[in-house]
Amino acid sequence: MTTRTPLMAGNWKMNLNHLEAIAHVQKLAFALTDKDYDAVEVAVLPPFVDLRSVQTLVDGDKLKIKYGAQDISAHDSGAYTGEISGPMLSKLKCTYVAVGHSERRQYHGESDEICNAKVKAAFRHGITPILCVGEGLDIRKAGEQVPYTLSQLDGGLEGVPADQVESIVIAYEPVWAIGTGEVATPDDAQEVCGAIRGRLAELYSQELADKVRIQYGGSVKSGNIAAIMAQPDVDGALIGGAALDADEFVKIVRFRD
Ligand code: PEP
Repeated sequence: MTTRTPLMAGNWKMNLNHLEAIAHVQKLAFALTDKDYDAVEVAVLPPFVDLRSVQTLVDGDKLKIKYGAQDISAHDSGAYTGEISGPMLSKLKCTYVAVGHSERRQYHGESDEICNAKVKAAFRHGITPILCVGEGLDIRKAGEQVPYTLSQLDGGLEGVPADQVESIVIAYEPVWAIGTGEVATPDDAQEVCGAIRGRLAELYSQELADKVRIQYGGSVKSGNIAAIMAQPDVDGALIGGAALDADEFVKIVRFRD
C-alpha cells in the first residue's frame, strides 16, 4: 500500500500584505518542529506580492515550510496585463500553485479548459498544481456531486500525461462549504475523494491513483480536521480562513495530537 504524506496548505486568499506575511511565516516557523514536518507537509499560498518575502525567509532560514501561488497564467510570457507566469513563479522557487479555485472559477470565469491550460503551464515549469474541484449547493441538492466533480477532474487533466499526474494534488472543495462555516461531513468528503481516486485509476492506473494526494477543503478547523483526515481517501486539507491564524493552522497540522 502506498503511503501518502498529508499536505496541509493554507490558502491566504487576498489577505496579509508582505510585512504581515513575514510575521505570519515567522510564527509558523517558530511553532513547527521537525516532528511536525516528518508527519505532514506544510505549505502556504500567499498573494503574489508576498511571495518574494516568503521565499527570502524560507531560503535564508532553511525553513521546511513550502510555499506557492494562488493562480498561474496559462501563458509563459507576453501581452497579458496583470498575469503572473510559470517562469516567474518557478524563479521564486514556488513548489505549488492552486489552479481552478472556486473563487477563480466563479469571479474570473475560469472554465475547465482554462484550468487545463494552467495545469499544463504549471507542469511545464516544474510547479505542482493543486487542482481544485467541487460542486455548488444546487448540484449537491440534486445529488449530482460525484459526476459534476469528476467532469471537472476530467477537464482539468485532459491530455496531461501520467508521469505528471502522479505528482499532482487534487483539492476537493465543495463550494457550499468554502468560507461558510458549513463543513462537509467526513462521509461526504470521503464519497467524493474516493470517487476522484477511482476516476484517476480509470484514466491512468490504480498505481498512479494510489500516489496522488487528494485534499478536502471547506471550513476546515482544528475541531473538525481529525475526523476528515480519518477518511481513507483524504490526504490533507486546503485551508482558507483558519490558515490566517497561525496558532489554529499549527493545530490543524497537528491533527493527530
Ligand atoms: C479555501 O479557500 O480553499 C477554503 C477552503 O476556505 P475556507 O477554509 O475558509 O472554507
